[in-house]
Amino acid sequence: MTPYDDSAAQAVSTASRPVLIDGFGRAVTYLRVSVTDRCDLRCVYCMSEHMTFLPKADVLSLEELDHLASAFVTMGVRKLRLTGGEPLVRKGFMTLVERLSRHLRSGALDELTLTTNGAQLERYADDLARHGVRRINVSLDTLKPGLFRSLTRGGDLARVIAGIDAVQAAGIAVKLNAVALKADNAAELPELIRWAHGRGCEITLIETMPLGEVEQDRTDQFLSLKDVRRDLSSFWTLEDDHHATGGPARYVRVAETGGRLGFITPLSHNFCEACNRVRLTCTGTLHTCLGREDASDLRAVIRAGASDADLERAILAAIGGKPKGHDFQIAAARPAVTRHMSTTGG
Ligand code: SAM
Ligand code: SF4
Repeated sequence: MTPYDDSAAQAVSTASRPVLIDGFGRAVTYLRVSVTDRCDLRCVYCMSEHMTFLPKADVLSLEELDHLASAFVTMGVRKLRLTGGEPLVRKGFMTLVERLSRHLRSGALDELTLTTNGAQLERYADDLARHGVRRINVSLDTLKPGLFRSLTRGGDLARVIAGIDAVQAAGIAVKLNAVALKADNAAELPELIRWAHGRGCEITLIETMPLGEVEQDRTDQFLSLKDVRRDLSSFWTLEDDHHATGGPARYVRVAETGGRLGFITPLSHNFCEACNRVRLTCTGTLHTCLGREDASDLRAVIRAGASDADLERAILAAIGGKPKGHDFQIAAARPAVTRHMSTTGG
């Protein structure tokens, strides 16, 4: 199959194919694809100030990204999330979105979405809507321009807010992701949540994860979301909300704001038993667990000229080896895995 052939994609999607069930009986239906390791920001918990980025030859072309993502779709993946690095800095990104959107039209895919820092969203909002993107995640940790600039090492908060305005105006739902940082935004979280809900956005709080070497000590910045939840419930009514996304977040509804609030707690609550996802890096490495070093090199498979059947076998073998779970320890001296979040894709 040629990567961009619509009719071939549709024929394949309706045929009977091996489906992705791991060794613990979990169906893998969600693929995150990091389309670049580069970014226009340098968030302190994510990247070091002077990152060395990958040589271009190591990074999958748009055609290769499409080929691999499409193979997963034909094997039962129903949701694709494009991430990075910053997906919107990848040259040709919108072409990739357009091409992948054929799987939405064929019915093979339920959702095509992305996670972005929002800085370049304003100019892409209409194109994203046109290609069938219905929801996106925007990362935003603070509403204070000065703190935003220092946390992102140079970012402009006004551009992110303009980006959120633009996608909402284009009819795309926005979910905000905020990393909870003890020294920086702990006191501001209620205001951030109120702001998100006031604009009709969900918001999810994330605990810092020990991924990759960064300059700061993450033990100092770690804020348990159990504590955040306890503080919030001292002045708000948090009602359990059994909204399921197949993801690691636990949700509540805040009675006073009427909005939904999620908590992603990889450290204080292990969420592995219901994990339905795997991650593909921009170099074609498949990681079947965010918190472990397991990796399968799918770039080598496709660059060796493998047939569709060979590629499917390689994917099935990798999924068969998906670990039962991870065991992050924030207090550990070294990161749980050496790769950065920007390499694996958040
Ligand atoms: N650049 C895009 C963005 O910032 O949304 C997409 C990639 S970024 C790696 C995805 C998510 O990972 C962001 O929400 C970011 O806040 C989060 N993240 C990065 N490093 C993290 C860490 N060490 N612990 C927890 N979350 C992290
Ligand atoms: Fe870039 Fe996203 Fe990492 Fe921030 S969190 S440095 S925006 S990849």
